[in-house]
Amino acid sequence: MSYPEKIIDIHTHIFNLKYLPIKGVMISRGINPTLAAGIEKILIALTGDYLNYNRHNNSKFINLQDPNFEKDLFKFSLDDLVRDIGFKTSLGTFESIEVQKALLHFAREKKAIDFFETESIDDLREDHEFLKDRLPYIISSFVRHVFETIEDGLNYLRWFLFMTLSEEKIIERMKNSYPSVQTFVFHMIDADWFFERNFSTYNIDQMLNNMSYLQELNSELIGFAPYNPMRGTRGLRKVFELIKMKKFRGIKFYPPLGYKPVNNSNFELNDLNYKLFDLCVEHDVPIFTHCTPTGFEAIPHKSGLNSDPECWEKLLNQPKYARLKVCFGHAGGEDGWFAKYAPEDGNLFPPKTEKNFYAELVYKLCVNYENVFCEVGFLEHQQHNNGIVNMQHRLEKIFRIDESGYNKFEFRNKILYGSDWHILFNHGLELNYINPYIKLFTESEILSKYSDRFFYKNAEIFLSNQFIQDSPI
Ligand SMILES: [Zn+2]
Repeated sequence: MSYPEKIIDIHTHIFNLKYLPIKGVMISRGINPTLAAGIEKILIALTGDYLNYNRHNNSKFINLQDPNFEKDLFKFSLDDLVRDIGFKTSLGTFESIEVQKALLHFAREKKAIDFFETESIDDLREDHEFLKDRLPYIISSFVRHVFETIEDGLNYLRWFLFMTLSEEKIIERMKNSYPSVQTFVFHMIDADWFFERNFSTYNIDQMLNNMSYLQELNSELIGFAPYNPMRGTRGLRKVFELIKMKKFRGIKFYPPLGYKPVNNSNFELNDLNYKLFDLCVEHDVPIFTHCTPTGFEAIPHKSGLNSDPECWEKLLNQPKYARLKVCFGHAGGEDGWFAKYAPEDGNLFPPKTEKNFYAELVYKLCVNYENVFCEVGFLEHQQHNNGIVNMQHRLEKIFRIDESGYNKFEFRNKILYGSDWHILFNHGLELNYINPYIKLFTESEILSKYSDRFFYKNAEIFLSNQFIQDSPI
């Protein structure tokens, strides 16, 4: 197995917990707001700051400095993880009024469980020695209760724990995990206002400043700034100023937060979106949009459906936007790409079901519009071995169609490598994400002819910008 000469990962994330409205996320997952506020304080108190990133005290359970830390995250049980948080939480964190309220609420709800037999927080506070001994157990029990309550709680907790690392540590982890990758394109998500009107620890200016500073420090990084329609024209202008100053390369569009490119019921939102698209066309700025029916949804099991590529088709159909540069993250989702493929049926994609209906349209948009791309991040191939084989056969067929000259724009020039690291943790996926793709694009005869395009050339075209960037990456 040989590595391609160069690799660009078009889809990564380097933000930590301070960039997410944790309390709102927990509330949207059904957690009581008082409990959610306490969890947020505890987790944020554990989160490293990029200016002093060695702040973490290692607990006796999980060593964040350990190179195998990510792998271990998948081995640890919920009990191990909550015990770790319990022992890392300081008495200082307990002084937070949100944490005290949350613990009291929890104690009452659970009718004062064994080690927490107290009537009020004041009783606890009076006896620091008592608290010092028991705090780890109290916090562990509280955190376990909260994460047991939410759907897929263990994976959420793993992801959140990973995101207690500082940005610098996260970047270091990313580079160490993928030493063969030369360029990491990272995407910011601005989720403020979307989760029950809760806000991230950092405000948007801090987020943008930190992320542009981190790019100055790491030449391997290229950033996509977040579009947040809730911030109106001012927010949009700010993001474009930064792109013009070459601080960021493109725009991250994230429909699972609760908006679509066109046909939103809110007309002001549609107008603002069109302003965004006008600016992108005018300045040749690429948009990277999430495209699966799920994702980091503001409304679970619902708002992911805003990612439907049909909405983008309505936009691209308009001559003014036909040349808009858009990359569909996740290529529409693994349910379409990994589904059983039977060439004798003559259909490239399976019959449409609720879960797989994005992939086929993403393919069609790629081959019908000059500047539409797609990316393969987060396809859960490591857990579904046959899936990747189905994808291989499907791609081989598609590349043959390309070679026959049938496609207006060849799909082999439109498909990009991406990993969606570190969101992988959110779904309990392990590392070494790249290896199955390397195998696919080196072992298959027809795919290997185009492996350079998949691993970096197509990404270079997507990222190039004749207006803003003088030279390609
Ligand atoms: Zn992502």
